Amino acid sequence: MSDQNEPQQPKEPESGAEQTPASAAVPAQSGKKAERPSPRPDVSYTPVSNGMDYLVSVFQHLTEGEKPPGARDLKYAVLHLQAATEVLLKARLSHEHFSLIFQNPAEATHETWESGKFKSCGTLDAYDRLRGIARLALDDDSRKRIKELGESRNALQHYGLTHNAYAIESRAVKVLDFLLTFINRHLIPGLDGAEAQDVERTMQAFRLQLKGIETLVKQRMNALQSDLAKVTDVTVQCPDCEQWALVTGNGEKGLTCLFCDQDWRDPDFTATNYVWIVLGLDDSPQDGGDPSVVDCPECQEPALVPTAVTAASRPGTSPLCFSCGATFENLIDCEGGCGTVLDIAPDGESIPMCRNCIDIRYARF
Ligand SMILES: [Zn+2]
Ligand SMILES: [Zn+2]
Ligand SMILES: [Zn+2]
Repeated sequence: MSDQNEPQQPKEPESGAEQTPASAAVPAQSGKKAERPSPRPDVSYTPVSNGMDYLVSVFQHLTEGEKPPGARDLKYAVLHLQAATEVLLKARLSHEHFSLIFQNPAEATHETWESGKFKSCGTLDAYDRLRGIARLALDDDSRKRIKELGESRNALQHYGLTHNAYAIESRAVKVLDFLLTFINRHLIPGLDGAEAQDVERTMQAFRLQLKGIETLVKQRMNALQSDLAKVTDVTVQCPDCEQWALVTGNGEKGLTCLFCDQDWRDPDFTATNYVWIVLGLDDSPQDGGDPSVVDCPECQEPALVPTAVTAASRPGTSPLCFSCGATFENLIDCEGGCGTVLDIAPDGESIPMCRNCIDIRYARF
């Protein structure tokens, strides 16, 4: 074997400096297959092959151990998936211009880039720059998943695993799917012949492995179909696993996702998480927007999501109470301006105000 050098060793100028995140764990090295005749001595460990190696590790951890994967495998699957995403996005960004990898591109010099001693941008910055500067067609859904992946990784490092095996698997499938498309569409075209061939060969194995994991997820979902078919009007997407398997309407008993078994307990806690994570309503609507979780006119719990999307209503919305499971067709805001939401048919007879506001108004006059 001619490759004496360790992977982290520098660097061919052509492919960017060591912008590998310092915090990223070292991936398993089995990606270098013995039968592959190395077209050139492996003195360089380019960002792309580095990223591919992380992916090899992700697939190993998700597919080679017990089913579903145990805690240790899940941990490395998440860490290495995050590292792969970061490295591969930045590899493409460096094809655009090396300065774009710097946290502050205005401070970039060729010298610091070659030295590798600079603060590089975050994964989401890389995503946004690829979209905004390199003008790649990248969508909001993938951005959201990459953001969540970064959060999972951080949570993992501080608190250990916060999601269970089914949830991690189900989410990883979507990020992997994004990455394989990204590599194919945006990365391979910019590689030189030998490296492109290398990457393409590994990609074939990845596609097969991804199919395998997707099949497991599908089989588990299929097994739930007969149960879920009866409750489509009160079923929403689970914030943890993203499957349409979170059934609402259990009142005090709380909610459990049928797919990932995540126990969501409190309906109002679940509703809040749902609007943050699934609907992406990050900011509380202080500046005039409609509140994303309100008191339910039916059960009075603060667990009504006016813009919920149910398995029955999708892609449209259907106001749904996560506690009592009531859905509403005629939700209006109380015209007294108190923020209460009312369920009043537009028959022209009912006063579009809540009890309180009616009392106040009639007391005044
Ligand atoms: Zn779930
Ligand atoms: Zn309710
Ligand atoms: Zn009112």
